[in-house]
Amino acid sequence: MAIETALSYWFVFLIVIAAIELLGGEEERRSARRRWPANLALVAITAGLASLVPVGGLAAAHWAREASVGLLNVFDAPLPVAVTVSLITLSLTSYLMHLASHRIPFLWRFHKIHHSDQALDVTTTFRTHPAIYLMVLGVDVLLIIALGLTPAAIIAYAAVVLAIDLSHHSAIRLPERLDRALRPYMMTPGLHHIHHSDHVAETDSNYGHDIALWDRLFGTYLAEPKRPPSRFRYGLKQFPQDRADDLNALLVAPFRRDPYS
Ligand SMILES: [Zn+2]
Repeated sequence: MAIETALSYWFVFLIVIAAIELLGGEEERRSARRRWPANLALVAITAGLASLVPVGGLAAAHWAREASVGLLNVFDAPLPVAVTVSLITLSLTSYLMHLASHRIPFLWRFHKIHHSDQALDVTTTFRTHPAIYLMVLGVDVLLIIALGLTPAAIIAYAAVVLAIDLSHHSAIRLPERLDRALRPYMMTPGLHHIHHSDHVAETDSNYGHDIALWDRLFGTYLAEPKRPPSRFRYGLKQFPQDRADDLNALLVAPFRRDPYS
């Protein structure tokens, strides 16, 4: 659902942020020339796939409400209750799905494409294997129908999370002091950058997309990198460097006998 919204309403933000990042300097431009063809191709492939799929989270929510299907609709929950329950459910589900993407080997085969990026900028946000789109959509639609989540909450959550996702992967960072002050309460770009480290103990942390509560509750919160800044690297050590920017390699990696795990 986040991807649907991104592709239809937020694409312009990606372009604007990318343009600002390119102004950063020669190193950023060299990195962009190397990484962006594959990252942007993955965006285009996922967009094409999304346009072919006739089901969406929002449409499912409207259908469930009209048909009085799903827990909140069956019990005719008052709007404030329905919106609150919907937002908490969406937030917790996005945390659990991200955690599962790292802990379940089959899902990690696909999610690792996102983590194999050797630098972080706004194009990393959508550097995902197209199959991830279908998996996330499937879980979202089942959840939305089963619980009867509110359409307004789905739109609001998708918009907010997308803005956060873009900021998490952007080279444009929050001021250091502000990032640190916010970390106990919400997932800041600084916390998400730790999640993209090539050091497993750092990658296995900070799974939340929005609030820091779930990571703190389930013991996956990591406020500071475990290694000194001089040793910090993005990417995946096990993913061959010469394949990390190769579109074909990224698309077929999950299906290899040895998927660079
Ligand atoms: Zn991850």
